[in-house]
Amino acid sequence: MMPPHMRFRRRSFLGLLFLFSLSTSALYFIYSAPGIVNEYLFMVQARGMRIRQNMRNIGAQVLEQVVRSAYNINGTDYPYDFNLSETAAPPTPYLPAGFTYLPTDICPERLPTMKGRLEVNMSEIALEEVERGLRQVDPSLGLGGHWKPQDCIPRWKVAILVPFRNRHEHLPILFRHLIPALQRQRLEFGFYVVEQASDEPFNRAMLFNVGFKEAMKDLHWDCVIFHDVDHILENDRNYYGCSEMPRHFAVKLNKYSYMLPYDEFFGGVSGLTSEQFQKINGFPNAFWGWGGEDDDLWNRVQYAGYTVSRPPGDIGRYMSIPHHHRGEVQFLGRYTLLRHSKERQRLDGLNNLRYSPQVSRRSLYTNISVALSRDLAPIADY
Ligand code: UDP
Ligand code: BGC
Ligand code: MN
Repeated sequence: MMPPHMRFRRRSFLGLLFLFSLSTSALYFIYSAPGIVNEYLFMVQARGMRIRQNMRNIGAQVLEQVVRSAYNINGTDYPYDFNLSETAAPPTPYLPAGFTYLPTDICPERLPTMKGRLEVNMSEIALEEVERGLRQVDPSLGLGGHWKPQDCIPRWKVAILVPFRNRHEHLPILFRHLIPALQRQRLEFGFYVVEQASDEPFNRAMLFNVGFKEAMKDLHWDCVIFHDVDHILENDRNYYGCSEMPRHFAVKLNKYSYMLPYDEFFGGVSGLTSEQFQKINGFPNAFWGWGGEDDDLWNRVQYAGYTVSRPPGDIGRYMSIPHHHRGEVQFLGRYTLLRHSKERQRLDGLNNLRYSPQVSRRSLYTNISVALSRDLAPIADY
């Protein structure tokens, strides 16, 4: 029998030997399988990046809620279950494959050609190439990106308005995804890119007002979609027709971790019938720079007695095109303006806006270029 201190020594010697053989086999593993190790390290790194990104987004959203409650804006309480997934949602009755309809019928809203999830391809591509591809599939696609179904009567005539300044690489990516989806939805549509020509801070809302007025000179569009150039839909069942209520389409965006940032969020992609848009006096013209104009539109919609509708589950998913442009200056006065949404609604909007546009019809869209300045929308005291 060994004395206890000897037993300990012997055991620690065996332990050391074991550790040594373990580390040499680990070294051997690292040496012989660098690919696996690299992959592992990459996964750890990617997960770290993902967590940091999510923290930033969640942080921004929390901050947003704090500021909003401090300023007490948007007092509306709109319940929206943004965690409802498509599988949990009641099944939508889409028509069966092979379903037929007549050219004299109004196009059905839930066609079998609307398959659901789309492949998103963010790689850059020339506009001409997208145009060629689209016309090859359907030569009836007209100037200005005007298209209407031949096999049924379109339910809606939809003008898609895109606010724009210096994001040329985004346009072809948007068209590549959106045009085929709209064709599958059997809508009549046309695209209007409303380009801000001045060096003033960007005014997304005023561009939409200009776009609306110009588009209505072309054709009696009965539905208008306000569409950021960098928003790519991920599901072709996100039907771009209008409804009795103004609609918010971009419910779940990848850059907000596919969560609605706040209940009253109305940004990215929204749509109103022309009648609804006239009734709320359009967008406000006074939001220069980033932020707030979509919140004001939300308020206008509420004051007019509407409630916003949204697609259920995962249908309203979008991916934002990553871009390297310097962020637009934030509009710091937005919270003050938002507190006066109600009084301003009848004074500032479609009714006080003057402008002189340059309109040119291009292959996939009508370009409306306009030099915006503050004196174009004078507002009386309130
Ligand atoms: N936009 C643009 N050029 C700009 C700023 C904005 O074309 O310099 C348009 C574009 O359609 C964009 C939308 O306005 O998608 C909203 O702006 P941004 O993407 O910068 O806002 P965010 O996604 O950060 O809220
Ligand atoms: C801005 C909105 C914007 C939202 C989400 C808000 O603070 O006022 O214009 O869409 O944040 O980014
Ligand atoms: Mn964006």
